[in-house]
Amino acid sequence: MVFLPRTSFMFSSVVIVFLVGGLLSIVGQHKPGPAVSLLQEIHSLQLNSTVCVDPEAVDRASTDFGLITRAVPAAVFRPSSDRDIAALVGFSYASARPFGIAPRGRGHSVRGQALARDGVVVDMGALRGDGQGRIRVCGEGCRPSYVDAGGEQLWIDVLRETMKHGLAPRSWTDYLYLTVGGTLSNAGISGQTFLYGPQISNVYELDVITGKGETVTCSEQHEADLFFAVLGGLAQFGIITRARIAIEPAPTMVRWVRLIYKDFAAFTGDQERLISLEKKKGFNYVEGSVIMANSLADNWRSSFYVEEDITRISRLAAQYGAVYCLEGGKYYDHATAPSIDQELKSVVDALRYLPGFEFRNDVSYMHFLNRVREGEAKLQSRGLWNVPHPWLNMLIPRSRILEFDRGVFKSILKHNNSVGPILICAMNRNKWDQRTSAVVPDEDVFYAIGLLRSGVDGWRNLEEQNEEILRFCDGAGISYRQYLPHYTSLAEWRKHFGAKWDVFVERKMRYDPRALLSPGQRIFTSSFGQHQSM
Ligand code: FAD
Repeated sequence: MVFLPRTSFMFSSVVIVFLVGGLLSIVGQHKPGPAVSLLQEIHSLQLNSTVCVDPEAVDRASTDFGLITRAVPAAVFRPSSDRDIAALVGFSYASARPFGIAPRGRGHSVRGQALARDGVVVDMGALRGDGQGRIRVCGEGCRPSYVDAGGEQLWIDVLRETMKHGLAPRSWTDYLYLTVGGTLSNAGISGQTFLYGPQISNVYELDVITGKGETVTCSEQHEADLFFAVLGGLAQFGIITRARIAIEPAPTMVRWVRLIYKDFAAFTGDQERLISLEKKKGFNYVEGSVIMANSLADNWRSSFYVEEDITRISRLAAQYGAVYCLEGGKYYDHATAPSIDQELKSVVDALRYLPGFEFRNDVSYMHFLNRVREGEAKLQSRGLWNVPHPWLNMLIPRSRILEFDRGVFKSILKHNNSVGPILICAMNRNKWDQRTSAVVPDEDVFYAIGLLRSGVDGWRNLEEQNEEILRFCDGAGISYRQYLPHYTSLAEWRKHFGAKWDVFVERKMRYDPRALLSPGQRIFTSSFGQHQSM
């Protein structure tokens, strides 16, 4: 199905705003054609929202953070309420000419997942406003405490609002300028996942607009099937307009350490040990990264080291080809400050890093969680943020991680000199609720690998390396899963979901039978979801 054929638009560089006899405003200039009749039909719904067809808005919604794919929508919908989104979806669902609808959080996907070729992109950011009205904290009076946040809200704003009450969500992503709806459609992972599970394991309730335009409140107790479908459901079953997220008392400070290893087996062994410890005996946050001979020890993920440390680590990486960095965080506050040194010592003393290569920082909890923002600002100022990002994220079973190191870090990426971090982070499967749509490897422990490289000098060579990595894993029979997955064939999607595929399809038929939602994921749609390479 194709909505509003592009040929019916003759865009002008001049943007005008006019009302089609009522509340709904259409922004942009176009010649009369089928588009106008459709927009007028939408207008008959008496919405307060804006439909934009001006070239700038449409162009912005045609690509994403990846800058790799492009798919031009017919229009961008700027909702003024959840009700208007429901009306839009309901309208398409009932229409003889249904159109694809993609909610767009911040468009921080890298493979066109929030695009909708010839369809309508819903700019969820339009609901953010000043943010306050759509983030509500229920602290002391509620057992358990929670925060209700609009699906369009940024995690940084959720953090700021909850911290006013001395509370905070417990499971995070490394970067906080992502939306609640965007990360809950995937999983939301970081160094706390080993302890609390991904963000989708920390949600009590959702308000969702299904692909039929119905608004449903769902939770583990009520409409549980929809609740678990949406969590990690790659935006295939509904648009999240509110999430009730678990919160707990927030610490004030973090003792943040980085330890350097030359031996991969010692590095992963220590990560696995750390993620098996309970909170009191170990870290609250555990992540790792690979520092290749030609890559930077410090990168946009955070400013951590002083210049002299960077020189030492880089020398070491040059000597060994690659070294590994284990990163840990121990939370504390005024009451626990006197014992933090001793507690940290008892954790770190048991680890097998290179003597002399232990680095520490003390930062506020807010600074720690928002650590990537500073790096982003630096890259922005040097024009290195808005460049192609051919990122590849994989989940690798623990039993194959040494092979992965040999075949990928020490072989395919041996001469990697691209910009961008390479993350490796151990996780416990039992913290992932298997009732959600997210899929993970079938082992108790697995690793999230993030090859977050930037295509500063072009992205195709990095993409070829990504393909080589996937071929290597397929050839070696490593049963990986992609995180933030990107596949181009039904057979690959079927393989990705494995035993969950049949349920995924049944749920699609139940909640979005006309396959309207998030066509850019390219799971159920062929015509809606075609992308072009940039
Ligand atoms: P978008 O890219 O806009 O949307 C993602 C998908 O969700 C699309 O299919 C879209 O249609 C859909 N969607 C958007 N809003 C809604 C909604 N309200 N309801 C239903 N569906 C919706 N991920 C991690 O897990 N951990 C990390 O540490 C991490 N770090 C990152 C750092 C950077 C710098 C970047 C750019 C990304 C990072 N990500 C991380 C990936 C991030 O989780 C994804 O980009 C995710 O898609 C969220 O981005 P977004 O909010 O812009 O969503």
